[in-house]
Amino acid sequence: MNACPRAWAITYATLSGHLNSSKAPPSTPPRTFDDLLTRTMRATWLKRLADQYQRKIWSIPYGKQTLENAVDDAMGLVNMSVPHLHLEMGKVRSNKQLRSLEQCQTLRPLFTGQPRRWAYFDRRTSANIGGVEVYAAPDVAIFHQHRWTLVRLQFRSPRRSLLGQQLEHLLMVHWAMNQPGFPRNFDAYRVRVVRWQGRAWQEHTVQVSNELLEQSLGLMNHDVQEMTWLQRWANADPSLNSLPLATHHEQCQSCRHRPGCPAKDGLNSAKRAQERTVLRTN
Ligand code: SF4
Repeated sequence: MNACPRAWAITYATLSGHLNSSKAPPSTPPRTFDDLLTRTMRATWLKRLADQYQRKIWSIPYGKQTLENAVDDAMGLVNMSVPHLHLEMGKVRSNKQLRSLEQCQTLRPLFTGQPRRWAYFDRRTSANIGGVEVYAAPDVAIFHQHRWTLVRLQFRSPRRSLLGQQLEHLLMVHWAMNQPGFPRNFDAYRVRVVRWQGRAWQEHTVQVSNELLEQSLGLMNHDVQEMTWLQRWANADPSLNSLPLATHHEQCQSCRHRPGCPAKDGLNSAKRAQERTVLRTN
């Protein structure tokens, strides 16, 4: 769930009275250069895996060129420009990050010819879990020692709390159990997270248990309830002026809705003005 209800409502809430849940979430343009690099790395990685799956090997210069072209294309597409040195440093850093991803313990076997069974997914592939379309596909699934390891890649560290993140990762298990070809019992799965932490990839295992899986479903349902509630609120107040603003001003810094937002000149003052309006109308 977005850390700013107003931003979420502008981006996702439709005014037709229902959540647009059966389609892939709309893709919004990257807000910052770092956001653009993250998306480009993810897209390049997906291409890399698709070729690796077909045993097409990328040379180091080919991988570098593919990433650099993808960054240039993405910059042109959204008409973004940054100083030349900044651009070149971003490309170098991203290329290093992608190359070191192949060397991490969880994914290295894919590049050394083992294991025989593995699959990769686009996160925009949804599964219906209890009537809700959930976008929780693992990035990679690897079959090893009679179990599937579902791998979540995080190209940047997320803001959600550690427990919230672990429960979110477990949605991958629900996703897999609802896919044809995957086992339907939870003990057939392991969950691994490979996360970029500043300068290196860090890997950890998430415990899978019946109880934690139920908690992850609870978290998902809670998020859906909040979204439905915000949806109704947005419909009741199409100006969106009464919707809660961001919890922290950091969220506003890279927000593309800022020019038309009451918080454009400061989050705290906008919140105070909002409180005064609510008190007056009550
Ligand atoms: S500028 Fe801040 S308060 Fe306004 S929509 Fe964006 S994140 Fe929310």
